[in-house]
Amino acid sequence: MNSEKYIYKFEEGNAKMVPKLGGKGANLAEMTSMGFSVPPGFTITTDIARIYSEKGDLPEGLLEEVKKHVEMLEEVTGKGFGSQEDPLLVSVRSGAPVSMPGMMDTVLNVGLNDKIIERFAKLTSERFAYDSYRRLIQMFGNIVKEIKRTKFEDMIQKVKGEYKIESDAELPVEGLKKLVDEFKKIYKEETGEAFPQDPMKQLWEAIKAVFESWNNPQAIKYRELHGLSHDLGTACNVQMMVFGNYGWNSATGVGFTRNPSTGKKRLYGEYLKNAQGEDVVGGIRTPKDIHELKEDMPEIYKELEKIAGKLEEHYEKVQDFEFTIQDGKFWLLQTRTGKRTAKAHIKFAVDFAEEGLIKKDEAVMRIDPEHIRRILHKQIDPEVKENVSPLTKGINASPGSASGRVVFNPDEAEKLREDGWQIILVRPETAPEDFGGMAAANGILTSRGGTTSHAAIVARSIGKPAVVGAGEIQIDLEHEKFTVNTTTIEKGQWITIDGTDGTVYTEKLKTVKPGLFPEAQKILSWGDTYRTLGVRSNAEREKNIEKAINFGAEGIGLARTEYLFMGKRTQLVQDIVLSKTTEERKKVLEELVPQQRKDFKEMLGVTDKKVMIRLLDAPFHEFFPNYEELLEEVAVLRERKPNSQELQEKEKILNALEKIRDTNPMLGFRVCRLGIVYPEVYRAQARAALEAAAELINEGKKPNLAIMIPGVAHWKELKILREEIEAVAKKVEEEYGVEIPYEIGTMIETPRSALTADQITKVADFLSFGTNDMTQMTYGMSRDDAERNFMAPYIEKGIFDENPFQVLDADGVGELMRIGVTKAKKTDPDIEVGICGEHGGESASIRLSNEIGLDYVSCSPYRVPVARLVTAQIGIKKKWEETGYEPKDIGY
Ligand code: ADP
Ligand code: MG
Ligand code: MG
Repeated sequence: MNSEKYIYKFEEGNAKMVPKLGGKGANLAEMTSMGFSVPPGFTITTDIARIYSEKGDLPEGLLEEVKKHVEMLEEVTGKGFGSQEDPLLVSVRSGAPVSMPGMMDTVLNVGLNDKIIERFAKLTSERFAYDSYRRLIQMFGNIVKEIKRTKFEDMIQKVKGEYKIESDAELPVEGLKKLVDEFKKIYKEETGEAFPQDPMKQLWEAIKAVFESWNNPQAIKYRELHGLSHDLGTACNVQMMVFGNYGWNSATGVGFTRNPSTGKKRLYGEYLKNAQGEDVVGGIRTPKDIHELKEDMPEIYKELEKIAGKLEEHYEKVQDFEFTIQDGKFWLLQTRTGKRTAKAHIKFAVDFAEEGLIKKDEAVMRIDPEHIRRILHKQIDPEVKENVSPLTKGINASPGSASGRVVFNPDEAEKLREDGWQIILVRPETAPEDFGGMAAANGILTSRGGTTSHAAIVARSIGKPAVVGAGEIQIDLEHEKFTVNTTTIEKGQWITIDGTDGTVYTEKLKTVKPGLFPEAQKILSWGDTYRTLGVRSNAEREKNIEKAINFGAEGIGLARTEYLFMGKRTQLVQDIVLSKTTEERKKVLEELVPQQRKDFKEMLGVTDKKVMIRLLDAPFHEFFPNYEELLEEVAVLRERKPNSQELQEKEKILNALEKIRDTNPMLGFRVCRLGIVYPEVYRAQARAALEAAAELINEGKKPNLAIMIPGVAHWKELKILREEIEAVAKKVEEEYGVEIPYEIGTMIETPRSALTADQITKVADFLSFGTNDMTQMTYGMSRDDAERNFMAPYIEKGIFDENPFQVLDADGVGELMRIGVTKAKKTDPDIEVGICGEHGGESASIRLSNEIGLDYVSCSPYRVPVARLVTAQIGIKKKWEETGYEPKDIGY
């Protein structure tokens, strides 16, 4: 063995040494130096685990080192390992750099043999001594020699039966002695050798077993499932035993400094009197609630509370700890950052700040966007979820969970909804005509498609949980059932989907109520004081706008008017396009104006904050049937029902489609080009919006209207449309006798518009980056085609680190945006520039938007709180960098 240090006494380590000492070892060291009563011991480093994995054996010389450290331990404790005077017993405990609960092994009571036990019994009590000895043989046999647990457990049952008792703790001395004998017999039978009487041999083999347990199948599986490296290795802790099974004034337990599920500031945990470690988790005896300790051992309870407080004060995080009470003396055996629910995590952060343990900005920094995401959506009760396994997994396309009965036909879903069904709509993929069924469903499950598939985008926009691309699902639409391997789910059966992680379950699972609870609101408003970037929301329906404002949106950054036409009003859009003459079109529009006025009035009436209404930006293919499919249908109808009205109607649409159908819909007759060619359409919409504003003003409200023109690529487009709208505004103002404050601006969603933003700014009151289209245009790839055909291989091959339709492409699209902002602000330093693509709610893209110098981001309502958090954290980070502040961060 070379001169490297492989063993550290607890006094030599600290919490920062987690990679070397493992979490358990590093924190035993930390607690030791903090002055807590921790049984003394030492840690063999994770380096040894790596050596063991490579060579299949412990390195030469390690045994000598271990012996040296045992001697030191004897000195500190005043006991002797293997001594018959005052025997030292130790535990041998695994402990990796990351928590792998219960995956690896620990052996207790190492150091007892047939001789020592007699002395040990005299020093303590017979009952206790033999109980400890039988535990050693049991654990050593099971862990080091892999003897089945049940061999020992069955024997315990048998002996308890002989004494007609139920609890292990009631076993009389004679019973325990008998167990020791029986266990030794089992040991001999199973291994062919006697239970080792040399304490050092016991210790050495236990150490070996701990290192070996790093590579046991369950540990390997656990690491694979959690994406942990197999190179981390476990450390091995050798520690003086303290005894919770010393009698009825002794106990062992586990605790959390606060409730990890609700976040409540109250000790949480369990304990067992007269018991040793494994008994609490082992489920052999039912542990008591930690609060009962108040009556059982009042002094100890007080001490426990004090220690919990000290642990929190030191670690500044909620701790999950293990303790043992030996004959009235309290010992700490482990501590680590407690695992907690998102809700508890947020509450802990707020409470810690209010209790003065940490600063408010630190509290804000501790929240992960994921925590906020979790609490905003209906979630499967975390406790329930832990105990069920999913049927299958797909892509987590739209967060939240939903239970419902499986329905395959979208039209039928609408009807069943009216009958009161809760529904999960299951489809291979969805199409525009499925919208009604999607809206009627509680959640959506598809077997194909990705995060930007139709199903995913619509689900997010209407706030429904969705799991898409669940490839294991075989859907049989004809017989209305689907199968996953051997499980078949028929129409009407309940399932639950979790759109937050993509899992699917075969039953109705209990959920917890979502929303911004008071502490979540508090932490976000603390964060707001550090923000420099604004947060608005993309929303169109009144309810969603209300929701967005309640979530803290500072306005509506994008209200897509075509969304108001989805479902029942698609016909109207078809008619606008199908009109042969301007006269005909005007007639259709006459119908549109009052409907839209009503829509806009509802929307503008929700808030005094700015509402940016975007005029029709109808990608035609979303409002018309697929051309090829229609062609086929018409051919069939011509044959079968040549004179039917159905045929006539379909032919009409077909004829129109033949004329206006885009060769390339992405680059075709869409965005503001529609308004340039049919100005009456935008005029009608502008009129509806302005009239809505005028009516509200007359009712004493303060509507804040911004009219957004989609897809301007040349400044003259905007100039023409602006003049049209201004003319309408003038008329409306005259008619209503009020002055209507409004703004006119555009979306920047093509490279040309970004490159000429200086020119556009001259005729615009505001600019907003439409980064979905901008990404398509910059890459020259359509999002839908990418998703369908080549996004996955592009990510696999590492060309894209991330789907650029989810995470803004900093080098390309980001650069265009940078140019656009710079040019625009040069022309008009006060022009407001924002982003309203799907990217506006994604953390990395928000950071980029901030860097580029945007004024605000706009995202769907449920992402508003997340965007508030991320923008707040940007502000805090900047402040910390400027002041050189670093928060304390210890523990793991
Ligand atoms: P795990 O990582 O599976 O929790 P541990 O190493 O923490 O394994 O050991 C399991 C239990 O054994 C602990 O909860 C503790 O109660 C008990 N234990 C471990 N070491 C000692 C010791 N030195 N004295 C008393 N009990 C111990
Ligand atoms: Mg433990
Ligand atoms: Mg667009």
